[in-house]
Amino acid sequence: MKLPIYLYGSEVLRTPAKQADMDRKEEIAALIADMEETLATADGCGLAAPQVGVSERIIMVDGRELADTYPYLKDFKRVMINPVVLEESSVTADYSEGCLSVPGIFAEVRRPAKIKVEFFNEKFEKVTEEFDKFACRMVQHELDHLDGKIFVDKVAPIRRKLIAKKLQNIARGKVSAHYKTKID
Ligand SMILES: [Zn+2]
Repeated sequence: MKLPIYLYGSEVLRTPAKQADMDRKEEIAALIADMEETLATADGCGLAAPQVGVSERIIMVDGRELADTYPYLKDFKRVMINPVVLEESSVTADYSEGCLSVPGIFAEVRRPAKIKVEFFNEKFEKVTEEFDKFACRMVQHELDHLDGKIFVDKVAPIRRKLIAKKLQNIARGKVSAHYKTKID
């Protein structure tokens, strides 16, 4: 089932998400299926449960559509349940980011270049994996959503000033997106 995507300005996007209850595997699997359908319809490359109004620590990233720009992402798809960052590099990288909850805004963000993450995958297996390059960036962006953070918080102040008006419009629901959105 396709779910509406909550927009910038929604409370759920600012609320730290709680641990997903691993005893409720069927519910988690159903949510993941809905999120996958929602993400595919929206042509996004990542989605966090809070973006569909569920304040639980579940994210997914899908880089397959980005393979033209980043060939190494051609098979890159991950579902992460209750992810925990174990390590972050002190070396940073700059990439332009966008977000389905913030339609039409893209801005450069500086973050650690590499991270190591422990998580449960869609088969509920515990995995530890290191990420770098744009894969790392996609994961970091989604992890932020679990802590109530949005990428525009991390944009350099001068650029933030430039996008402030657009953000206000989104928070008022004045936005055009080709997928279903919601503000609450
Ligand atoms: Zn996002």
